[in-house]
Amino acid sequence: MSTDPTPRPANPAPPAPEFPWPDGKRCALFPGFDVDAESVWLGMDRRNADRLVTMSYGGYEARVGIPKLLELLARYEVKATFFITGWTAEAHPVACEAILKAGHEIGHHGYWHLRPEPGNLATMVEEVDRGFDALKRVLGVKPIGYRAPSGESFTELLALLRDRGIRYSSSWRDDIRPYRHVLPTGPGPIEIPVNYSFDDWNFGITHRMSPRALFGREEVLSIWRDEFDQTREWSGVATMIMHPQVSGRPMRYRILEEFLQYVRRYDDVWWTTGREIADHFEACESAAR
Ligand SMILES: [Zn+2]
Repeated sequence: MSTDPTPRPANPAPPAPEFPWPDGKRCALFPGFDVDAESVWLGMDRRNADRLVTMSYGGYEARVGIPKLLELLARYEVKATFFITGWTAEAHPVACEAILKAGHEIGHHGYWHLRPEPGNLATMVEEVDRGFDALKRVLGVKPIGYRAPSGESFTELLALLRDRGIRYSSSWRDDIRPYRHVLPTGPGPIEIPVNYSFDDWNFGITHRMSPRALFGREEVLSIWRDEFDQTREWSGVATMIMHPQVSGRPMRYRILEEFLQYVRRYDDVWWTTGREIADHFEACESAAR
């Protein structure tokens, strides 16, 4: 573990390569959903297990949020990536099977939704392996994509994920195009950077631990449209971080639907999943060698 504060780039990876998007597309839209359910509340404080109203924020996902969002995505014929915690797969197998049956990609999102902490690799080994085990046992899938719970990661964790077969991470905030991580032991996973402007948690949830006003439709759509438009100008990927307990709620669902309608007006957008982006990136890498 390094706690060396020497001035240097924290990320040694070079800037993202200028690989073209497939089929002459100008940019990419990557709808990603983080299926935390109650585990995000347990990850904050294990004692929340007995705080049933707190837990019910997450319980909304299986009861309402996931079915509604699957219906929305089917109506727009959009395939997405759902990063699911192992805990959620075990607690809500029927809701998670419906995601898989609808043809969406399943990604890894930890087991307990523990925020990765540098210097605590042993805990993360257990968290990562238990997440893999749950997704395999409940859904029969071995994910190739990983999104860090609560948006944190560190070098040893990236190496662990790579060694476990994770081909891409979607957690970093430092680019608008995919790139490959560089680790002390060689190439790391591909990074499909996220855009925090598209994190619905920032706009659409309020609770006792973080009481704040919600952002309304016009504010959110204004941010999402502007962010998307300029990402398109720059030929980037608009990576979304949505949560069924946020965007599955009635007014947030409408905001998301309006945003999908907005993006659909353009015919030069590659609507895609993390797996497809990783496949494409690897093909471009091979061709460039
Ligand atoms: Zn999460």
